[in-house]
Amino acid sequence: MIVAATAFIIFYCFLNPEQAVTALITYLSTLVFGTLILAFISTIFMKKKNSMNSSQIIGIAENMNIEIIVWADDFSYIHMNKKLRELLGLPDTASDHKASVWKAFGISEPDTKILKEIADSRSYESHFKAADTTMVTIAWSTSLAIRQKKRNIYVSTGFNITELKKMKVNLASANDFFNSSMELAEIGVLMSVDRRNYRASPELVKMLGLKSSSITAEQFRALVHPNDRSIFDNALKAMDSHEVRSVDLRIKSTDTLYRWYTYRFKSIHGTDNTLPLFGGAVIDITDQHEKDVRIEKLSYMDDVTETANRNKLLIEGNFIYESSSMLHYNFWIIVLDIDRFHIVNDTCGYSHGNKVLRDFAHILYKYVTPGGLVARLSGDNFALVLRDYGDDELPVRTVKSIQEEFAKLAVDELASINLSCSAGYSMLPRDGKSFKEILEHAEFALKSTSGAPGCICAYEPNMHDSIIGDTAMEKALGLAIEHNELRLFYQPKIDLATGKLMGVEALIRWIKPDGTIIPPDSFVRIAEKCNLIGKISDFVLNEGCHQNKLWQKMGYPNIVMSINFASSDFYQPDLKEKVFDALARAGLDAEWLEVELTESLALRDVNFAVAQMNKLRDLGVKLAMDDFGTGYSSLSHLQKLPITLLKLDQSFIKNIEHDNIAYEIVSAVIRIAKSKKIETIAEGIENHVQESILRMAGCDYAQGYLYGKPMPPQELEKFFERNSKK
Ligand code: C2E
Ligand code: MG
Ligand code: MG
Repeated sequence: MIVAATAFIIFYCFLNPEQAVTALITYLSTLVFGTLILAFISTIFMKKKNSMNSSQIIGIAENMNIEIIVWADDFSYIHMNKKLRELLGLPDTASDHKASVWKAFGISEPDTKILKEIADSRSYESHFKAADTTMVTIAWSTSLAIRQKKRNIYVSTGFNITELKKMKVNLASANDFFNSSMELAEIGVLMSVDRRNYRASPELVKMLGLKSSSITAEQFRALVHPNDRSIFDNALKAMDSHEVRSVDLRIKSTDTLYRWYTYRFKSIHGTDNTLPLFGGAVIDITDQHEKDVRIEKLSYMDDVTETANRNKLLIEGNFIYESSSMLHYNFWIIVLDIDRFHIVNDTCGYSHGNKVLRDFAHILYKYVTPGGLVARLSGDNFALVLRDYGDDELPVRTVKSIQEEFAKLAVDELASINLSCSAGYSMLPRDGKSFKEILEHAEFALKSTSGAPGCICAYEPNMHDSIIGDTAMEKALGLAIEHNELRLFYQPKIDLATGKLMGVEALIRWIKPDGTIIPPDSFVRIAEKCNLIGKISDFVLNEGCHQNKLWQKMGYPNIVMSINFASSDFYQPDLKEKVFDALARAGLDAEWLEVELTESLALRDVNFAVAQMNKLRDLGVKLAMDDFGTGYSSLSHLQKLPITLLKLDQSFIKNIEHDNIAYEIVSAVIRIAKSKKIETIAEGIENHVQESILRMAGCDYAQGYLYGKPMPPQELEKFFERNSKK
């Protein structure tokens, strides 16, 4: 019984460390005190067994501070000491009250068998109701005191274990409660027995698949992931700290895989009677950890290439900027753009496109220097941060090597594509007041390249001069509109099957009073920025409709007038009304007006754009997708947009007679467009070879210098006349 009680007490302390001291003191003092008394009595009785008579025994037992019964096995003699009488609420005169003796032994009447059992037992437990009506438990230890001829006299010494029992019951239910709570909460407990040995709670045994609840520090350490062992060692070193601490560790678990756990531990002071306790809760945080990693990945990693993204680059870049400013060393920031990347996507599909991005990132990794970085900024734009060692040629040389390696990737499905990239670069910290600014300067340099594949351009502060010049241009343009210096030129569009003029594109020109003609590229962008574009567009729309109607009235064959819309014009809510008014004012049927939109414009807000386009289609106006091949060029977008004509960008046509890939792409696009009942026109046709290639490819119409440059209306009338004779 004592062994079991001791085991319970140890476990109780293990589960309730804060009550451990009190429990241990109570238990130990009861145990020590009881044992001493028992030993003392046994010694006295054993020594005097043969020489003492029963009245002498009673004399010793009467005033002892434990319950004692002196009894004869024929029941002829019985005595209960004072302590027991008090417990039973008996007067001193009733020291031989037989019924009460049986009660004290937990039996209702003398039963020879049970009394024999008591007589032979060193540990017999009885339960009975005390005088104060509480239930008590006494553990009786009986020994033979006097052997006589006819009878034996026994002494039973009682050990009141009522409190201990209660503790045991509480402990058992606390233990059950504790274990099921831990199981439900999936919390394991790991406590040190001493510095070398640990005890694991049942839940932890289950979580880690341990063979036993006892485990040595070394065995536990072996389960910890090698990379996390130093964390575990440090936690052990903190054993003497009494603060709650926690560490995250990977620990080999039941499934033999490492899982992430948090170990929240604390050390509790030892007292004179107890050892210090060290231990705490082990909680599985694998799912949370994976979520954190994913969130970190989403925020700072690019999914496709698994390189840093723009956010991460800016964070790391700030650090690089600060340290390089302090330590006086430089970095190059190179921003790279994959040339005509959309062709890869369109011809080989997105999965190949993604592979190209990944391979490109891998190439960049080969060139990154210690302390540098590779990041994907967006789409097909990457940044490479390189440490500068005083070699001004480094960026250009590096980009050229990257270009060479990148070109070699063009095998298998990509064989027909020229893989190349362009780059802009700046120097840190020289080229700006922050990392962000220097990165933007590198991007600015990239945008300032001519646009031809493979260009490399260094950032120079005077690149901004053209922007500063914009303000002067704004003022002049405002005046030009007021002074009617804007004119429309018309470029013919030819039906490839008949060679007849089928339409014209209205292209804006600014004709200064001295006769200089300014092309739209120089001022349309500025007009868009300073809201003058609205005025320009109103002019183009009205003038275009008016001119077309005029030609009809003059008896020329009906042709389609195409006009270009800027983004801000197109997204106006009253677009339909404006177009309707212009048509009405000119008296032109809607079928003779076409609006050209670029793909990037339409995709800025695709739902709204589709709604606007449908409104124009409702009027009967035609819609053309301009410059197809320069933007996203996704054929899948064609399905969404209600366009009637696709304009293949001149960059495809330029070399079509020598460039097989361009030819393949153009014919594929024409085929797909036809299948969707969309007509096609090729821009920038300059010679007959291009013309016949496109005719063969099934292209419907053509526009280009071969037929005529953009020209004033009077010249176009001559064109009409020449063309009608064909
Ligand atoms: P776009 O709409 O793609 O117009 C076609 C451009 O290609 C025109 O340049 C035209 O002159 C040029 N082009 C036509 N055929 C050939 C050829 O065979 N070879 C070469 N090398 N070029 C050829 P332009 O007139 O300088 O216009 C440039 C751009 O300015 C236009 O591109 C259009 O985006 C914009 N633009 C022109 N007029 C307007 C306008 O009234 N409003 C708006 N918002 N933008 C306009
Ligand atoms: Mg156009
Ligand atoms: Mg165009």
